[in-house]
Amino acid sequence: MKTVKDYFGSMVFDDRVMKATLSAEVYTSLKRTRNEGKKLDISVANAVAIAMKDWAVSKGATHYTHWFQPLTGITAEKHDSFISPSPDGGVIMEFSGKELIKGEPDASSFPSGGLRATFEARGYTAWDPTSYAFIKGRTLCIPTAFCSYSGHALDKKTPLLRSMEALSKQAIRILRLFGNHTAKCVRASVGPEQEYFLITKEMYEKRPDLCLTGRTLFGAKSPKGQEMDDHYFGVIKPRVAAFMEELNDELWKLGILAKTEHNEVAPAQHELAPIYATTNIATDHNQLTMEIMQKVAAKHGLVCLLHEKPFAGVNGSGKHNNWSIATNTGQNLLSPGETPYENAQFLLFLCAVIKAVDDYQDLLRISVATAGNDHRLGANEAPPAIVSIFLGDELNAVLHAIETGSPYQGAEKTQMKLGVDVLPKFNRDTTDRNRTSPFAFTGNKFEFRMLGSSDSIACANIMLNTAVAESLKIYADRLEGAEDFETVLHEMIRKTIKDHKHIIFNGNGYDDNWMKEATEERGLMNLRTTPDAVPHILDKKNVDMLTSHGVFSWEEIKSRYEITLENYCKTVIIEANTMVDMAKTQIAPAIEAYASDVAKAAVTKKALDDSLLCSYETGLVRKLSVLTDQIAMQVADLEKALMELSDAEDVGAESAMIRDSILTKMEKLRAACDEGETVTARSYWPYPTYGELLFSVK
Ligand code: ADP
Ligand code: MG
Repeated sequence: MKTVKDYFGSMVFDDRVMKATLSAEVYTSLKRTRNEGKKLDISVANAVAIAMKDWAVSKGATHYTHWFQPLTGITAEKHDSFISPSPDGGVIMEFSGKELIKGEPDASSFPSGGLRATFEARGYTAWDPTSYAFIKGRTLCIPTAFCSYSGHALDKKTPLLRSMEALSKQAIRILRLFGNHTAKCVRASVGPEQEYFLITKEMYEKRPDLCLTGRTLFGAKSPKGQEMDDHYFGVIKPRVAAFMEELNDELWKLGILAKTEHNEVAPAQHELAPIYATTNIATDHNQLTMEIMQKVAAKHGLVCLLHEKPFAGVNGSGKHNNWSIATNTGQNLLSPGETPYENAQFLLFLCAVIKAVDDYQDLLRISVATAGNDHRLGANEAPPAIVSIFLGDELNAVLHAIETGSPYQGAEKTQMKLGVDVLPKFNRDTTDRNRTSPFAFTGNKFEFRMLGSSDSIACANIMLNTAVAESLKIYADRLEGAEDFETVLHEMIRKTIKDHKHIIFNGNGYDDNWMKEATEERGLMNLRTTPDAVPHILDKKNVDMLTSHGVFSWEEIKSRYEITLENYCKTVIIEANTMVDMAKTQIAPAIEAYASDVAKAAVTKKALDDSLLCSYETGLVRKLSVLTDQIAMQVADLEKALMELSDAEDVGAESAMIRDSILTKMEKLRAACDEGETVTARSYWPYPTYGELLFSVK
């Protein structure tokens, strides 16, 4: 029998295949490009292209594609076959270095947020040799970056790669100051924990809302939801287990390190976590994971819902972004060390993160802002929309001791001078089981928990990498010029703690008091919705920071602003239109049909026996009629508000109108329809109920 070891990575043109199929010279040259970003020679590219094609063809591939991540949030591909006519009437399979390195998809239908208006419509894709090529179906997929001809990034990968560069550059400066002259680069790594729901295809297809928007727009509460807490880590049902088994196999073949799987809090909700990889590869892998989850589910007669809030009143799905930074030699810079020097270095990196998260709270919030995620953040099930950091008691006490110059009340009561005294050993893993914090230190990494389940993790990591690069840059600028390194270091750490401790919060993030304390006493930002958050990307401090590290140009920032808000508007408008359609053509007619039958029943009964009161029927008919009237009114109201959107001057104004008017009207319409569901006979109701949806997979 084949074991995982035999087929792990079998569909990946990875280091093992490269070593086996490339000449030593080509292999070394490619490795240098991969590790050090050295430019690739065309002759090397040609040799790699031939080896890649031969390998892919031997695995049954017929096509190749430049695989990229436009600003739609999903991946894109355009397939070209390898075939080329031969003089004898047959074909040969061809693929050149030029085709490997560069592609020219027609960019005109991808969102560009104004970049297209000012610049050329055409775009090109450029091979990213740091992420392995792989085979999906019968197509060789080559991970690429996607840019306009004027060099503007039209994708998520380009700024992500730039942010990794920026972080590495600044972190290396710091490491050199601590006497590390061997590390060549520093890499940010991520292990994203992916949550999702599984429901049966049969139920899914009966719900236009799920089919069109990915979430239920209507649905009365099920008598049983998640209140028993009996699903979390519960026994995995056979059908789900079969899905997970095949999913793991498919992911493993693609070299994705799928590691942990379990049931989540809500019924029908599950989680998958891979072993962490560099932010770039983790992003590619997470996109692939989401795609393959949906494909494998379909093979099992299931549908995988990745929406952040598929069901009201039931936990939504997120993505925990476990983030750390390490040298190319494997030293985790967020891991407390053994020696005084290592400890001081650890504290400096820790402070860099604290400062970054505080200074750029808004960018972190923006990086996770979507219409779907707005339903989660702040809904007492996911972290609130307020960004704060959880450090745990032990680390908190250490920081307090440093700030106040008082003895640390740990194992040994010592006053610490950084770089001189040994820091008390903190026990790893007494750390966070506090699930309510948006940004928690978990021993040797930070867990950023605000990401939505369907979103690419690229944006969050772009902002995180760059904001931390900025803190490190400020530190390095000061330390490089310092006469007394130790004193300046100590002072800088002390000052960071003093200035930024208001972002550190170890309590319950779901508590209403926290909301008050955070905003009123601590002055933290509470950017509740996407339209509240996104405009801040244009704030001078954010633009200056992002452009100074070369991660985004001003035009690119402006385009992200436009696209994020455009997506928000489009998403909610599609939802609102779907609601109108469902309410008008299915829900109101169902209630009406039931009311009419009840009325007829009353008439029949009366004809039979005039002394019967028929108060049940009369009462019910009255109630149903009131509801259909209400529904008709709410529909008209919503339709009117939708029409008025065309008055909006720009996307900022439109998104604000949607937040203030459309969403409230949608809620009202839903409330009336959901009430209708609770009083209409089941046989009349056009859709599967929440109970059926959530407990359909056996
Ligand atoms: P949990 O949060 O459920 O306790 P873990 O903390 O073990 O689980 O891991 C969650 C995720 O964090 C996994 O994807 C894991 O690979 C990732 N992870 C573990 N260590 C690191 C690290 N140093 N840097 C980044 N991610 C990490
Ligand atoms: Mg975790």
